[in-house]
Amino acid sequence: MRNSLAISGGPRLSDREWPRWPQPGERALKSLEDVLMSGRWTISCAYQGRQSYERQFAAAFADYCRSAMCVPMATGTASLAIALEACGVGAGDEVIVPGLSWVASASAVLGINAVPVLVDIDPDTYCLNPAAVEAAITERTQAITVVHAYSAVADLDSLLDIAQRHGLPLIEDCAHAHGASYGNWPVGAFGTAGVFSMQGSKLLTCGEGGALVTDDADIAMRAEHLRADGRVVRRDPVDVGEMELEETGQLMGSNACLSEFHAAVLLDQLALLDGQNARRVRAADHLSDRLGEIGMTVQETSPGTTDRSYYRYMVRLPDEVLAVAPVDRIARALTAELGFAVTQTHRPLNDNPLHRPASRRRFATDARFLERVAPSRFDLPVAKRIYGSVVSFGHEVLLAPLDAIDDIARAFRKVMDNVREVAR
Ligand SMILES: *Cc1c(COP(=O)(O)O)cnc(C)c1O
Repeated sequence: MRNSLAISGGPRLSDREWPRWPQPGERALKSLEDVLMSGRWTISCAYQGRQSYERQFAAAFADYCRSAMCVPMATGTASLAIALEACGVGAGDEVIVPGLSWVASASAVLGINAVPVLVDIDPDTYCLNPAAVEAAITERTQAITVVHAYSAVADLDSLLDIAQRHGLPLIEDCAHAHGASYGNWPVGAFGTAGVFSMQGSKLLTCGEGGALVTDDADIAMRAEHLRADGRVVRRDPVDVGEMELEETGQLMGSNACLSEFHAAVLLDQLALLDGQNARRVRAADHLSDRLGEIGMTVQETSPGTTDRSYYRYMVRLPDEVLAVAPVDRIARALTAELGFAVTQTHRPLNDNPLHRPASRRRFATDARFLERVAPSRFDLPVAKRIYGSVVSFGHEVLLAPLDAIDDIARAFRKVMDNVREVAR
């Protein structure tokens, strides 16, 4: 049979309108107008007689993460760099970073002049492999960063145990995991600090944003200084027209404050998050049953997970199929059938064109540093295998009704049945 697949000119399996992301809540316009007219567009402008959206969001998100404190920030990358620096990590220190992640996992470490040590992942959860972490620790290691990747929660029991035995801070990067939980407790609240991104693709978003959560008052205090040019939010009452940020100068910072517009949008989106996550889980469970029947291996999560959050839905193709056609061609064939983007995973960070420290003169402090951070010195066989065998799509698709989710399973079946056509 010729041209049965959409990629080779055949009919598409689905003409549906798939859900898009982001989706604004009903109150968002009102909140934005309120900020616009308030006379205060960010916390580094004078106090106007009522609590800022930024302070409201900080309180609400700390509560959501069952953490004592939240410091909102401008981006997830800034939150990660500031979390590390607030934990005392600095120039030349080694930081364990998962080898399969967005480039920010490594660039945030470089951003504080520390050395990202790329460590391989678990073949089932795609999160940091605890045994590989243990093997990568040296006397220069000063922190472990873990990403709860795509739709999984990492093996926090093992990682916390390693961190504790070696006296290292564990930073949880929860950029994919807003609303996930482990042992019925929210992710982000296990490590020394948890960091989040609220960039436009994330489950909780305001376009660009971030946050750090922690129970450690010293870390929160340092993070406040680091994100507001050495200023912290005053604890005593402020008069209208005065600055709410106090210039302590205890620790020099830079500016990574979250604007009032962003904070207002986040407050609205936060109210929607649990409902959206529940719909995604229902759709993902439904799809995983169907895809399991046709030999696909769905990304697993660690055993302690109590709530999954699907940032990307990830599924590994069978070896027999990959022997016929490469993963990128299959992803493109699925995209053509469905009309939304099906892609490979992130490229492993030891072979990722976005992770090139040597392209920046700021890291040429000495030749040794560039050698230590050279991505090619790391070996990540599992990350490489996952990159070569997994296809994925974004969480907004999982907000579609279940009959649409069935189309996805049908598209996989169609492409698998005609995989020789993909290879042509
Ligand atoms: C998105 C992301 C970040 C960075 O967040 P930004 O807000 O884009 O700076 C960090 N880590 C991971 C794993 C991410 O996916």
